Amino acid sequence: MNHSCNPSVIVDVQAMEVKANKDLVAGDELTFFYPSTEWKMASPFVCSCDSPQCLQVIAGAEHIPIGRLKKYHINQHIVEMITELLATNNPHIVLEHQHNQ
Ligand SMILES: [Zn+2]
Repeated sequence: MNHSCNPSVIVDVQAMEVKANKDLVAGDELTFFYPSTEWKMASPFVCSCDSPQCLQVIAGAEHIPIGRLKKYHINQHIVEMITELLATNNPHIVLEHQHNQ
C-alpha cells in the first residue's frame, strides 16, 4: 500500500487488522499513513498525496509535531516512542506539546 496523509485505511498492527478509514467504493486505492507504523524511516520521501493536510515530507512519526500526529490513528509502539521522548524532556517535543495545548 502507498502512503497518504488522508489515508483510506488504518493499519492496526496490534490487532493485525486493516480497517476502512472512510467510505470506499470498488477501485479506490488503499492507502495508509506511514508514520502510524514508522517512527524513523530509512528512506524519507516527498509526499504527493495532494490532500489539504499533506505533511509534504514523510520521514516517520519522529519528525511530526504531536498535535498533527494526534489527528491520526497511531499504533501503540509509536505512542510509546512519543511517551519516551516526552519523558526525556526533549526541548523540541515539549515546545510542540505546549503549543498544541
Ligand atoms: Zn501527503
